[in-house]
Amino acid sequence: MSKIIEPLRGVHDVLPAQAPAWQFLERVTREVFSAYGYEECRVPIIEQTHLFKRSIGDFTDIVEKEMFSFLDQGGDSITLRPEATAGMVRAVISNGLLRESRLRLWCMGPMFRRERPQAGRFRQFHQIDAEAFGFEGPDIDAELIVLSARLLRRLGLSRLKLLINSLGTPASRLVYREQLGLYFGAHEAALDEDSKRRLKGNPLRILDSKNPEMQRIVAGAPLMIDSLDTESKEHFAALCAYLRDAGIEYDVEPHLVRGLDYYTRTVFEWTTDALGSQSAVCAGGRYDGLVAQLGGADTPGIGWAMGQERIIMLLDKLGIATMRERPHVYLVMAGTSGEGLGFKIAENLRENVPNLRVQLNLGGGSLKTQFKRADKSGAEFALVLGEDEISRGIVALKSLRREQAQEECVLAQLNERLGVLLGLSPTRSGS
Ligand code: ATP
Ligand code: MG
Repeated sequence: MSKIIEPLRGVHDVLPAQAPAWQFLERVTREVFSAYGYEECRVPIIEQTHLFKRSIGDFTDIVEKEMFSFLDQGGDSITLRPEATAGMVRAVISNGLLRESRLRLWCMGPMFRRERPQAGRFRQFHQIDAEAFGFEGPDIDAELIVLSARLLRRLGLSRLKLLINSLGTPASRLVYREQLGLYFGAHEAALDEDSKRRLKGNPLRILDSKNPEMQRIVAGAPLMIDSLDTESKEHFAALCAYLRDAGIEYDVEPHLVRGLDYYTRTVFEWTTDALGSQSAVCAGGRYDGLVAQLGGADTPGIGWAMGQERIIMLLDKLGIATMRERPHVYLVMAGTSGEGLGFKIAENLRENVPNLRVQLNLGGGSLKTQFKRADKSGAEFALVLGEDEISRGIVALKSLRREQAQEECVLAQLNERLGVLLGLSPTRSGS
């Protein structure tokens, strides 16, 4: 026997037992986006490497060490998307969508980062992503946060914490950056290697360090909120007022900067204490300069991304059950004539009883074996086509879950009868 092939490190299959939770998350996501007038926009998984370098920034974890990049056969440098914003911005620019001036978009799918795999941190993971373009005011910031809150609530996740902060305009950020440079410069000897490098490149990044030693130094660093320009202050105050009006609790976290370079003004993060150190489940912010930076007309933007694996882990942890889908009926058939007839009946049912789930016994077997399979399938009813039933033009209906007398049904009335028994309505009767 040849050796089995293992999946890559940090990459996972979603097996049938887990699929219902994913489908639940995806269904609720679609419903909530549609309730707010957001439209889906699917962007490619591979893009040119420099798209991410130019947007995410050189001194970020992602660009410094996490990107899956390779040269293709034509010598082009290609990267598996580590996040969706860069691709979404590229898409609205290269497809001319910004002519509509205001866009509310979302997407979801796999992202790739070469991180050290651990609980809640993978190399292929999935994000739900929301982006809005062309809105300057704090109302869109509030809408996006309120939308994320509704999504989390609809999923049954209510005990999450919302952290918010403002990074100001590029100009006020520059002032802050200088202050931070001075502060961390004075502590240079105590900085770790990453932070030393970032001190030269972009000292703001040090605030985002996960090293507890660095976090102690960060605790004494000057606060962005003290260097905010007046407009950013007003923007932030208005956002806070919207959130309070919407009944959304938040904490202002003055050192929250987020891992990407492109953010301006509002940044936020939803966190949980139920997943150990992988505490962020959703994060985002405003990126007013990014569209222009990537060659588009100067257009404000704001968005967030939610980690689907972390949400699924929370659903699991909180025992929010999602049921595996079971067939409604399982067809048990005797002999070759039964099999031929059964195949036809099953197709007829699928055609005429919308949403009915029919599983056919394939590959023969004694009636006893077939009943065992029927039971294992989780079906509500076994539909039995024995020799006797076939000769009489009927089918026997046997409940597999309830104490209920077996009944017989003529083929012509099967659709209707099953519709009644299962609370589904057939479009046409007869077999
Ligand atoms: P972290 O601080 O946990 O590294 P991040 O700041 O790198 O997160 P973002 O780039 O903001 O994360 O991505 C948004 C969300 O995507 C995160 O809040 C998290 O839920 C999820 N996420 C990010 N990286 C991973 C990963 N490697 N595996 C699983 N989920 C992830
Ligand atoms: Mg990260």
